[in-house]
Amino acid sequence: MNTRPKWERIQGIVLDAVGTLIEPTPSVAMAYAAAAGRQGVELAPEVVRGRFRAAFKGDLVRGEDGPLSTDEGVERRRWREIVARVLPEVPDPARAFDELWEHFARPENWRAFPDVSPALAAIHEAGLRVCIGSNFDARLHGVVAGLPELSSLVDAIVVSSEVGYRKPHAAFFRAACDRLGLPPDRVLSVGDDFENDVEGARRAGLAALALSRPGEGPVEGPSVPDLAALSGLRGAEA
Ligand SMILES: [Mg+2]
Repeated sequence: MNTRPKWERIQGIVLDAVGTLIEPTPSVAMAYAAAAGRQGVELAPEVVRGRFRAAFKGDLVRGEDGPLSTDEGVERRRWREIVARVLPEVPDPARAFDELWEHFARPENWRAFPDVSPALAAIHEAGLRVCIGSNFDARLHGVVAGLPELSSLVDAIVVSSEVGYRKPHAAFFRAACDRLGLPPDRVLSVGDDFENDVEGARRAGLAALALSRPGEGPVEGPSVPDLAALSGLRGAEA
């Protein structure tokens, strides 16, 4: 498929964070199972994984401004609820929440995917503007600051808890475009979540590309297997 004419318009890229630029290490399931283990509750990571998927997808807690509205307090309450649903057996749920909240705030518990450094170098080289656009909360600033591969993006982070709306809400994408200083039709959204990063972005007037890393399920529409493919998007030179 020749997508070239479309990409030639592109002058900026919004990159999702989790699953796109970074991933937790150890895995989410291992981290939750370890938190349960510290309270004497043994849980198989597969059990934790299934519960987490179900809890994470739910719109458990929302802000006062309607669906997908959020802020730091909402995110904290949402994660408290997720931890409670994933680890209902632990005797001290508040302790489990506190430990996991802190765990995922620490950069040493995350890693950048190996394709991130070369992809960002190529994006910068091409003269494209770039920012991170994430449904993470303010903890993402510290995580990004602690990962050398993302050093060029420390001042280019748009998080939903600070915008006031989560992806896929159009207000989130407007904020990301504002951060880039570009109109939506000049911006490409790239991420691993079809609804949040692709469908939501398109509804807001951006171009969008799904990232489908090996081992993950197939996605609809245009997709790339890794971030290296972005080095071909030299929109600023078009
Ligand atoms: Mg993601």
